[in-house]
Amino acid sequence: MAKTDKYSIRDLKKDFPTEEACLDLIFDTLHSRDCSCGGTYRQINGRKQYQCSKCRFQIAPASTTIFHKSDTPLSLWFHAIFIFSNAKSGISAKEMERQLGVTYKCAWRILSLIRKALKQSNKKLRGGVEIDTGFFGGRGNAGKNNEDLSKVMARKAVVTIAVERNGQIRAEIVPDATAKTMQDFIDRNVEKEHTTLITDSSKVYGRSDKVWNREKVDHHKKEYVRGDIHINTVETFFSHLKRSIKGTFKSISKQHLQSYLDSFVFHYNNRYNDKERFGVLLGTVLHASR
Ligand SMILES: [Zn+2]
Repeated sequence: MAKTDKYSIRDLKKDFPTEEACLDLIFDTLHSRDCSCGGTYRQINGRKQYQCSKCRFQIAPASTTIFHKSDTPLSLWFHAIFIFSNAKSGISAKEMERQLGVTYKCAWRILSLIRKALKQSNKKLRGGVEIDTGFFGGRGNAGKNNEDLSKVMARKAVVTIAVERNGQIRAEIVPDATAKTMQDFIDRNVEKEHTTLITDSSKVYGRSDKVWNREKVDHHKKEYVRGDIHINTVETFFSHLKRSIKGTFKSISKQHLQSYLDSFVFHYNNRYNDKERFGVLLGTVLHASR
């Protein structure tokens, strides 16, 4: 693949050689250089502020962003966002600490602020939409005769994922794996018109059948693909998620899992944009309010 298909560390250094260049990007993403009075905003030397040449109004562009009140230089923040944008299997705070040469606490804070900015869109999915549910985390033994199975299952997080064929993905922690919960999830995330749901044969998806057209693959009968009917896309995402969490983070608490899901969804939804993913992530982070 040609070099130009990627956004490399060299591109980053070239585009943002100084703190001033980083600040210019922040200003230009969030504000216009033209003031309503007819003047023009310019960076004030040595300060993180811009001032209008005519009316003298001042704007501190970073003050509404996650960079506010951070002692970390903007160029290091940009580097962190660059690393995150290329880490398709996730990146741990320990790894970020090593790569940036900051403390573990600082690396952890940077990562959690980036993840927090990655809320999933609420635009509904349509067309062929595969849906599947899985369980995450929660250690413990169910016992010889599964007598403690319910206790073990209660410690696990239930995650439901919907993926539009050739499109976007949605991944949510849901309260449980009941039919009522699945119906709510589908209502919230999937368009009713021009859409076919594709699921396994589990009865929990059945409540939506009055409204949605649904095709099933019956894994119990060892049926995995029937022409175009399969849930391979969503199952592939699930296994990437589980492998990445195990490999990169070892384990994730229920409390933080959703923000990790959001970051994997971000990577999936921007999977074809190796050149643009850094810019998309930077823009997303800048627009997300603190
Ligand atoms: Zn002005």
